[in-house]
Amino acid sequence: MKLIEKKCPNCGASLEFNEKDKSCTCTYCHRAFEIEREGEKEDYILNEIAVTKAVSPIFFIVPFIIVIGFAFLMYNIFSYNVKSSHDEFEKRVQEQKEGIEKYNQEMEKETDDKKEEKLITNIDELSNRNYETINTEAAFNIKNAKGETTKSSFQVEERKREKVIIAYKEKSNYLIAIFKVLYKDFFNQKDMQTIYVPLVYENIERNFYSLNNVKVDAPEYYFNKSKTTYAYGYSTYEEAYNNVVKPLESEYTITEK
Ligand SMILES: [Zn+2]
Repeated sequence: MKLIEKKCPNCGASLEFNEKDKSCTCTYCHRAFEIEREGEKEDYILNEIAVTKAVSPIFFIVPFIIVIGFAFLMYNIFSYNVKSSHDEFEKRVQEQKEGIEKYNQEMEKETDDKKEEKLITNIDELSNRNYETINTEAAFNIKNAKGETTKSSFQVEERKREKVIIAYKEKSNYLIAIFKVLYKDFFNQKDMQTIYVPLVYENIERNFYSLNNVKVDAPEYYFNKSKTTYAYGYSTYEEAYNNVVKPLESEYTITEK
């Protein structure tokens, strides 16, 4: 390989490089050069390569320490927040548990006489309840029907009370209103559909006026903490009856209205 000798464009010292090298460095002034071949003349032009000045390590170490320190600080703040919100949550859960326990204890303390005082224990009196209240409730509940679709894509077009069933036995009673509901399921883009929705109100007391406060208890229902009732619909009246009313038949006196 042919060795080329040139003068360093920077300091003038002798600079040697191989014919095929693409770059070289002056051993005196340590500048680096890109070697450009000048065509036929076989001359070589040295173009200085801009070299980033070496930076003192302190410039890296200081920001590094700052970043690590900051991350450490954030981690601690975050852990603290997570922990405190978790503690807060646990505290609330505990408070709720205690509240429910206290309520249950108070309920248990109530004598049967007192319970009876509150409950409608007469089948005629129960029959005279204002069922329209149930009707109003039903619209709201059906709009929230669980297992159907979301509130926004499920719209009740028409509701009609098919029948109110009174399931009655001493010290315990049910009002079951079965509604025929026409609805549009916008989510699935279906045409108008019909479902039969039974709403079950258990242990109806004399002193309540809003059925929101009634315990709703049937396999098809649940009653959540915000006191919203969710109801399932059945495709036929018979299905609704068989699933909700039938199980009560052996123990309760069933009348229809
Ligand atoms: Zn040089």
